[in-house]
Amino acid sequence: MQLKLLWDLQELDLKIKALEENIEEAPLLSGVDEASEKYEELKTEISEKENLLKEDRKTLKNLEMRTQKIVDDRKELSDNMYGGTVTSVKELEQMQRKMELLAEEKVKIEDEILVLMESIEEQEELLKKKQSDLEQCKQDLQKKEARLAEDLERFNRELESLRMERIKAAEKIEPKYINKYNMLAEKHQGEALARVDNDICGGCRVFISSGLRGHLYNPGAMVYCENCGRLLVRLDS
Ligand SMILES: [Zn+2]
Repeated sequence: MQLKLLWDLQELDLKIKALEENIEEAPLLSGVDEASEKYEELKTEISEKENLLKEDRKTLKNLEMRTQKIVDDRKELSDNMYGGTVTSVKELEQMQRKMELLAEEKVKIEDEILVLMESIEEQEELLKKKQSDLEQCKQDLQKKEARLAEDLERFNRELESLRMERIKAAEKIEPKYINKYNMLAEKHQGEALARVDNDICGGCRVFISSGLRGHLYNPGAMVYCENCGRLLVRLDS
């Protein structure tokens, strides 16, 4: 009877051990870390792209201001040229030359503006796509976090109930059995007891010698496998 109780205790301990391992591995298996890393990377990428876009918008604004300045300068020049105040031919020629240079510069800047506007438009579109990717990432991360939290809560509830069960189970077992069990469990990764099936030790799969077999029918005897040293249990069923 004590051996059967000890066997049940071992079953409980093995369940507890497996559950503790599940709890330990759950964060890694959940993919939360990976999803979180992906999310942070994308966020950084977006922030960098936003900064570049901001720079380009600033450049565009400067170019537009420069164009306006050229228009103003040309207007002033033209007013002076045709206002009748300047009479020197040489001076008029210089002013004319300046008018032409300004016109050339304006064309060049307007070309730059066009290229830049196109690039800004492309960047805005890409950013929009990245932001939608980010939203997707965020939802994925939140889903995984929620699932992990749910799993952990369930595991911990199970663990608590198994530990209570274990306390009750251990109370029914005599200390000398418990001591032996603890010693053997440490040696055999929690599997102190081995079930005998068809005269084979369930722990090491080696045949039980005929000499030992007889002792297995004595309910009070503690019989150990000659090969692995585990405490042998016969279970009806
Ligand atoms: Zn064995």
